[in-house]
Amino acid sequence: MDTGFDPEQVIEEFEGLTKDAKRIQTETLKKILEENSEAEYLKKWRLDGKTDPESYSSRVPLVTHKDLEPLIQQIADGAPYPILTGKPITTITLSSGTTQGKRKFVPFNNELTETTMQIYRTSFAFRNREFPIGNGKSLSFIYGSKQFKTKGGLLAGTATTNVYRSEQFKKTMKAMQTPCCSPDEVIFGPDFHQSLYCHLLCGVIYRDDIQVISSTFAHSIVHSFRSFELVWEELCSDIKTGTLSSRITVPSIRTAMAKILKPNPELADKIHETCLSLTNWYGLIEHLFPNAKYIYGIMTGSMEPYLKKLRHYAGGIPLLSADYGSSEGWIGANVNPTRPPEMATFAVLPNIGYFEFIPLREIDVASQDRTLTEFGSLMVEPRPVGLTDVKVDEEYEVVVTNVAGLYRYRLGDVVKVVGFHNSTPELQFVCRRNLMPTINIDKNTEKDLQLSVEAAAKLLAAEKLEVVDFTSQVDLSSEPGHYVIYWEVSGEAREEVLKECCNCLDSAFVDAGYVSSRKVHAIGPLELRVLKRGTFQKILDHYVGLGSTLNQFKTPRCVGPTNQIVLQILVNNVVESYVSTAFG
Ligand code: AMP
Repeated sequence: MDTGFDPEQVIEEFEGLTKDAKRIQTETLKKILEENSEAEYLKKWRLDGKTDPESYSSRVPLVTHKDLEPLIQQIADGAPYPILTGKPITTITLSSGTTQGKRKFVPFNNELTETTMQIYRTSFAFRNREFPIGNGKSLSFIYGSKQFKTKGGLLAGTATTNVYRSEQFKKTMKAMQTPCCSPDEVIFGPDFHQSLYCHLLCGVIYRDDIQVISSTFAHSIVHSFRSFELVWEELCSDIKTGTLSSRITVPSIRTAMAKILKPNPELADKIHETCLSLTNWYGLIEHLFPNAKYIYGIMTGSMEPYLKKLRHYAGGIPLLSADYGSSEGWIGANVNPTRPPEMATFAVLPNIGYFEFIPLREIDVASQDRTLTEFGSLMVEPRPVGLTDVKVDEEYEVVVTNVAGLYRYRLGDVVKVVGFHNSTPELQFVCRRNLMPTINIDKNTEKDLQLSVEAAAKLLAAEKLEVVDFTSQVDLSSEPGHYVIYWEVSGEAREEVLKECCNCLDSAFVDAGYVSSRKVHAIGPLELRVLKRGTFQKILDHYVGLGSTLNQFKTPRCVGPTNQIVLQILVNNVVESYVSTAFG
């Protein structure tokens, strides 16, 4: 089996593809439509063999997941005819469900795995130019979630699980010279608490070999080192005696770890000494892994709030933000790895799917028009533009046509075009659309919420405290409705400080609709509710219990009324609350 790839050749191919993005897009669409011409869904739109972008976008409608849900369900139930794809779908991806509180079924096939590997190889090739790594290992906080069979006998699991289980993934990691330091039994263990402990243990045992510390999303890296703070003495004791902690009860994990864990008092003492020498764990990662070249994971979007803590743990090790994709498929690779994570951009790979972009201005205009159906889909369809027709500085919603049966699928993400790499756009992730419900004429986004929390958290930082995590809720139970923001704080904050934080949260929103509604009291005073320590761990446990995975976990930033369990966790753990007096 050929295990290698030449990074320079990967870059050359990428340059070739992106120089010719328009033609490659047309070809990719043609290939997708030809391969799936037998699918009932495509037949319904009467393309009559046409595969050009104009015929496609004029005949096939824009859809959301809701529109496709019944068809995907038929596939999962084992319908014997081609529904969305020509070749049968054999695997179903379960999205993390942390965005809207509901897990989505998405069709998956091997070609999607291949596009994932193309993204991995591309960004690795660019990364390796700037941050070359030698032969070694990576400490990857990755987890396989539970897989199950659907009614129709299809294997269902999270996208990352489907990828990590694939041969292509192992091959690619090996070619990147950084196989995971943990055995498969740890990655695919049934209890993520135990897997996390063993990931940390393997990392410390192989500390000199560790070149890269990574996970899919940055949250998981921060979460792992927060856990390290709690278990480091136990890890040292395991290493000293060569005996695995009794907290690990899964037999397959114990057997696999027995092969790795040998008594090493010298290493144990060194780690013990290192941990004691750190001030507030600053530079933990740098000190634990002296040969680490960088920390790698998605750090943009809803991951930005964790960057401060990650930098604190990292010390001098650079943070490199990973690529942009979703359970529905990948979109772009970070080919400018030296940019700080907050500035990361993603160059769209024109051969991994067919991409369209709805100008955000059009959506805004259309949604002010009262021609909405009860399902919220627009009667006047917005007009997306093609990949190479987007404009710099404009914001768009991404529309995907992929190799696994999604046609003109609205992903719900908002991106901003910040430039071009050859003729393919470089995107910056802005936010997920419609995350915060509207009370009056407010249009706050997830990003606005993040900025408001960042502003208020500065007041806490002056007290040497931090916001561990946060979420929000729109409370319409009293008139007028108001925003509730939930905070978990790293320690006891003084009442005056929290009062001030609450006022700051309320006044830091810049959206004109929010500010004017607050001024005339059409939106009530914002409420800050402080949570017991460990509440967000409970929320994470809840999602993992549902079969989600830590890899793809994103703290829901706004909890809607349909997400009753998470709402209950929040409500049951409130220790104090404050009401803003910011607008009198
Ligand atoms: P999931 O399908 O659960 O893995 O979630 C996919 C979603 O994660 C995307 O639709 C985005 O909203 C978000 N996401 C993925 N990659 C990035 C990225 N690089 N930056 C910001 N958000 C991202």
